[in-house]
Amino acid sequence: AKAFHRGKAVLFAPDHEAALRRHAAVEQALRRADLATEFHLLYQPIVDVAGGQVEAYEALARWNSPTLGAVSPADFIPVAERSGLILDLTRVLLAKALDAVRGWPADRRLSFNLSAHDIATPESVEALIALVVASGIDPSRIVFEVTETGLMRDLGDARRALSALKSLGPCIALDDFGTGYSSLSYLKRLPVDRLKIDRSFVTQLDGDETSLAIVRAILDLCRHLSLDCIVEGVETTEQMLLLRSVGCRSMQGYLFGKPMPSGEIAAFEAMVAGR
Ligand code: C2E
Ligand code: CA
Ligand code: CA
Ligand code: CA
Repeated sequence: AKAFHRGKAVLFAPDHEAALRRHAAVEQALRRADLATEFHLLYQPIVDVAGGQVEAYEALARWNSPTLGAVSPADFIPVAERSGLILDLTRVLLAKALDAVRGWPADRRLSFNLSAHDIATPESVEALIALVVASGIDPSRIVFEVTETGLMRDLGDARRALSALKSLGPCIALDDFGTGYSSLSYLKRLPVDRLKIDRSFVTQLDGDETSLAIVRAILDLCRHLSLDCIVEGVETTEQMLLLRSVGCRSMQGYLFGKPMPSGEIAAFEAMVAGR
């Protein structure tokens, strides 16, 4: 990879070269991957700190590639999106998640991440709806998480797609809230039911009054717009107490539970109940 600078070829920074090679390797492995066996989901609890209960579990994808080993979703999701493999991957994962939900307590919700590509056409939305219907799971137990940056291209299409998903019963969460460029116009134009405040605000809570003020303002906004609000990435008791003191109820983070296999949820629930 070469860039031209004053007529002379200069190499990109070595880490950029490495990133390109990695991307190519991930793409190649992904094209050959057996999605049904190489991918699985872990589930991270979302808790109601006021009621001391688990509300939902967010499904988080994991890939064990026979050639590359464990690959993080931060690496393979963007590659899957660019190579057009994301639609198949999402369908395989959603089917697995819906299957897992069968074994959970009846009122626990499933929060499932969608890529913007997954809702880019009426056909792809229909495919998701068909999976939910076929599963027999009560659709109102499902939350679809979408990120604002991914939807940037066409808000009108995004609004129609999300409305179609919602008409079946699921609700929509706007993920990573506060990190995009147009959070507020998204709120106005998309049929969103809940916001997930990005982890970066929580990370900066310690000794940073601005971050707490921003969290407070988002909570106010949610109250006025009747949106549920979830804070992500809560790692310490101090953070939890500070967030609770400004009115946060729903939280997610390593403090409460790391992403776990569905088979560990029963034991986790028993532990929470006995606490
Ligand atoms: P996300 O949707 O914002 O998910 C939250 C990420 O933060 C997860 O990383 C989770 O493991 C991590 N996390 C949770 N609590 C804490 C904490 O207390 N501290 C820290 N440091 N991290 C915490 P993960 O599993 O690596 O996923 C990364 C991203 O990949 C996700 O961010 C999401 O955007 C994407 N992703 C994961 N699974 C899927 C999927 O099935 N479909 C799609 N489209 N995207 C997915
Ligand atoms: Ca998410
Ligand atoms: Ca997030
Ligand atoms: Ca994210």
